[in-house]
Amino acid sequence: MNIGVFGGSFDPIHRGHLALAQAAADRFSLRQVLFVPANVPPHKQKQPVTAFVHRYAMVVLATQDDKRCVPSLLESGSGGGVAQAANYSIDTVRRVKRTLKKADRLFFLTGIDAFKDIAKWHEAQALLAECEFIVASRPGFSLRDVAESLPEAVRPPAAVTKPFQKQAATGDLVLPGVTLHLLDGVQQNVSATTIRAAAAQGKPLGRWLDPRVAEYVRKMGLYRKGA
Ligand code: ATP
Repeated sequence: MNIGVFGGSFDPIHRGHLALAQAAADRFSLRQVLFVPANVPPHKQKQPVTAFVHRYAMVVLATQDDKRCVPSLLESGSGGGVAQAANYSIDTVRRVKRTLKKADRLFFLTGIDAFKDIAKWHEAQALLAECEFIVASRPGFSLRDVAESLPEAVRPPAAVTKPFQKQAATGDLVLPGVTLHLLDGVQQNVSATTIRAAAAQGKPLGRWLDPRVAEYVRKMGLYRKGA
């Protein structure tokens, strides 16, 4: 059985997130993709994040139509029992792995933008060794960009990655301690940052959000100026 873990702040969850999860599930026959909103996203500790309960509620609403997309509470608390400690992907992946059988395959899903910072993630090398990665690419990105983002200890030499440059934005990279798959044709031109800014200006959000999520944002007054 193949399982995906998809972490993020999901503030709010949008069509880009769903497109990535569904494309990965189609391509790698994922039985489930766990959508894991982080209570305390490690990369966003300096900026305010909407309360976990709202972000989780939106994940529940957005995943209702696809049986494979499953909301997860694995990062509902802060890590390590310390108030406001960040939720790290390595801890989540290890927890999920403990529930799997030996023959199961675990995949971690990310967009290329997030993956470009992988070397700075907590225990990045261990995380890469624990599961396979599915990285959604964007036009103009190749396996070379992905390979060059890897932590130094597992990064292949330039002579190996140079020929990747001209290849299409797809393919597999299998190295000692790293297996990753670059997925093309997924990227939707949307980010949660754009959506929050549009909501603050009272603009309609329907083209980026599941209708139930758009209605929730409206009803709860999320992202409004001064909210
Ligand atoms: P923000 O704009 O607040 O930084 P975001 O839209 O990037 O948010 P996150 O919750 O931070 O959303 O991202 C979770 C994951 O989804 C990351 O791996 C990110 O790369 C990926 N992702 C975000 N937007 C897209 C998109 N439009 N298409 C594909 N993947 C995306």
